[in-house]
Amino acid sequence: MGWNGYMDFASKSKGIDYAQFEAVVNRILKDTDSVWNQSMKKVSLDLLGKPFENLRSTHLLYLRSISMFDDNYPAQKIVSTFKRYARDMGFGNLLSQIKIDDVDRTKKNPRAVCYWINPPQEVHLVIKPIGGEQDYEAMFHEGGHALHAASEDPAMPQTYKILSRSNALTEMYAFILEDLVFEPAWLKKYLGVDLKIGERIKMQAKFVNLMLLRRYIGKFLYEYQLFSGGTLQKGPEIYAKILQRTTGFVHSGEKYLNDMDGYFYSADYLRAWIGAAQFKDYLQKTYGQEWFFSARAGAFLGELWKDGVRDELEVVVKKLGYHAWDSKYLIRSYSGLG
Ligand SMILES: [Zn+2]
Repeated sequence: MGWNGYMDFASKSKGIDYAQFEAVVNRILKDTDSVWNQSMKKVSLDLLGKPFENLRSTHLLYLRSISMFDDNYPAQKIVSTFKRYARDMGFGNLLSQIKIDDVDRTKKNPRAVCYWINPPQEVHLVIKPIGGEQDYEAMFHEGGHALHAASEDPAMPQTYKILSRSNALTEMYAFILEDLVFEPAWLKKYLGVDLKIGERIKMQAKFVNLMLLRRYIGKFLYEYQLFSGGTLQKGPEIYAKILQRTTGFVHSGEKYLNDMDGYFYSADYLRAWIGAAQFKDYLQKTYGQEWFFSARAGAFLGELWKDGVRDELEVVVKKLGYHAWDSKYLIRSYSGLG
């Protein structure tokens, strides 16, 4: 079809120079090596009861799944908390366009998901509330996508409403919303969580975020290497080697195809993490540390969301005065760990 292979197709359709992005990602990897290794050493002893050496990747899934703070996140309050927060930020008028299906059906997957059926008029947010940290995190992540979609200017061409080149921009907005459920002041106001517990929740969330970042760096670097000269036969070997390098956990090669989201979706997430840190820096500088209580910040977000998916993330952060892929804000967000 005229493309010079997988990499060429992904690069031209998403408008990203992946060779250049690989250099950025390798920098982030090096810049977070020490904080990751130090925090993992500690977490390994505290939570797994053994030193961080030759541990299999199943432990990584376990560390992602456990939470000591789930009691602070009741299932019955999840939808009402999202609606209450949306109203407080000035998005109350959008709630009729976001159809929330929280009905408890037996075979329904509890994990929240958002569908842009006909934005801005018709957006669906589906969840089966089970409570706990990850449930709230997913609800606010998907809620971020939903508010973004429901804010779109109805007069825009359909292309700008639904056909993005990549998903980095909307993932950035989703990450910003999802991180609120780990903010001590936010937790205190909306869920009545003691500030000291809130601080501990925030530290734990930082660790989990860094763990996910290192895993997605691994997923990207693996996909990049595989399609820039590697052969499919070498896939399992490259996968295991790179994922072990970035996470420190021993990976077997058998998931080398299953653990790939295709066409560098991993890079969309990585771009979104870099962008979310820049964007949050802007929000804090403009509306204060507790920008998330500011209706003015809400109005600002609402204005940006009107443009739907017309611009890529890098264009949006540039308008706020940030350079594309400047990772220093992301690196800084892990301070205090380790
Ligand atoms: Zn998302």
